[in-house]
Amino acid sequence: MLKNHCLTYFELLLFLVNPFGGTIRNPLKDKQKRFKWGLLATLCLILAAPVGWGLLKRLEGETPAIHMTLPKPVFGPSQPFSVSISDRKTGLRHLRIEIIQGEKTHLLLDRGFPSTGFFKKGVIRETELAVTLEPREMGITDGNVLIRSTVWDYSWRNSSNGNQRVAEETVLIDTVPPDIRAISNAHNVSQGGAGLVIYRLSEPCSRSGVHVGTDFYPGAGGYFEDPSVYLAMFALRVDQGRDTGIYLGASDRAGNTSRAAFRHYIRPKRFPRDTIRITDGFLKRKLPQFDAELSPVADKAPVDQFLYVNRTLRASAYERLSAVIPDTRPGMLWSGSFVRLPGSARQAGFGDRRIYTHNGTEVDRQFHLGVDLASVKHSPVPAANHGKVVFADALSIYGNSVVIDHGLGLQSMYAHLSRIEAEPNQTVDRGDIIGYTGSTGLAGGDHLHYAMLVHHTFVNPLEWWDAKWIENNVRNKIRAQRER
Ligand SMILES: [Zn+2]
Repeated sequence: MLKNHCLTYFELLLFLVNPFGGTIRNPLKDKQKRFKWGLLATLCLILAAPVGWGLLKRLEGETPAIHMTLPKPVFGPSQPFSVSISDRKTGLRHLRIEIIQGEKTHLLLDRGFPSTGFFKKGVIRETELAVTLEPREMGITDGNVLIRSTVWDYSWRNSSNGNQRVAEETVLIDTVPPDIRAISNAHNVSQGGAGLVIYRLSEPCSRSGVHVGTDFYPGAGGYFEDPSVYLAMFALRVDQGRDTGIYLGASDRAGNTSRAAFRHYIRPKRFPRDTIRITDGFLKRKLPQFDAELSPVADKAPVDQFLYVNRTLRASAYERLSAVIPDTRPGMLWSGSFVRLPGSARQAGFGDRRIYTHNGTEVDRQFHLGVDLASVKHSPVPAANHGKVVFADALSIYGNSVVIDHGLGLQSMYAHLSRIEAEPNQTVDRGDIIGYTGSTGLAGGDHLHYAMLVHHTFVNPLEWWDAKWIENNVRNKIRAQRER
């Protein structure tokens, strides 16, 4: 009886293979039926495959890429930065940028990206967005914040929200400009002369110092016990008069800037005229020295070649010199006053307004930015003070030259040498022989062209040969600060 009510295993198997049949009676008919069903199943499969493939592709698990480019670790009142995002597979769906400070989350950007349709993907695979954070406008206060950028793609994963990738960076918000103020007194500076100012900063700054007209003289910290106290050497060029604006300036790491006036007095100076007659004999003797540099004017008249030397080569020599000036040490390497070439007579002064004539006609004007000292031929040249050699080479119109760095932007220069006896990076003491006088470069006869620089400006060496000037303008200020 049981057999009549229940399927045997064999009947169950037959039912699975042939659900509409009963018992297999006609093998040919069954074969046709199976073929029909098989064909139907294959057709279904062929039709369903792309849909399945599409589904699989839309379920991809590759997360998008994200990278934040923050220009600096400290942000000011308005700081632009960029976020680049990409997704190779289903494309970009959404980007959100949040600024988190303590418990608060501020939304900076919430951007959706287009898709071509339900079954299709995102249109944008790769993009870079520029955003600007203005903390005050968003109610964010100064201090640390976390920038969190989240990107999603068009994958159907994560309940159709897409794969997501997060990038986070901590930055410091600083919207307050630094406070800068002078704490030294008696800032008297002569036209073509140097000055020193001691000042205090309210916070560490990426740049601080003295603005003189359009020139900037950077200050240095770490000279005094108090780390907020800085010192800057500055100068007034020979062509900068009484109306030149001189003030302190600072910009902090966030780029907040401030300026502050300080009491100073500019002593105007009249520099004497000096006429230099350029003779054909001088041109014949001197121009061949510059052969290698004269190719742009090779077919010009000798006097035009001279003008090229006196203007263009003078400027390019200064450019080359400017490259070694930033090598200045942060401390003061020198002491006492600077020594002058012993037993020498002054041939030309600092600031002389030189008028060059050829056959009685004025052809050029230049300031003479050093002091010419003549002694016996090939006199030994002593280092004017302690320091480090930063340049020792031939330098166009200056001929064989040595530059010694004395720290804090102060440098001495020795030009037209017949022989150099110093090497770059060599430490020298006052009086060490660094070369011998000569007439290399644009020099008429054997002499030393002695120059001094405060950062990029040639200054009057007379001040640095004068112990009283150094006492009043440098030493006393430093001493007063130390005794505070
Ligand atoms: Zn000279």
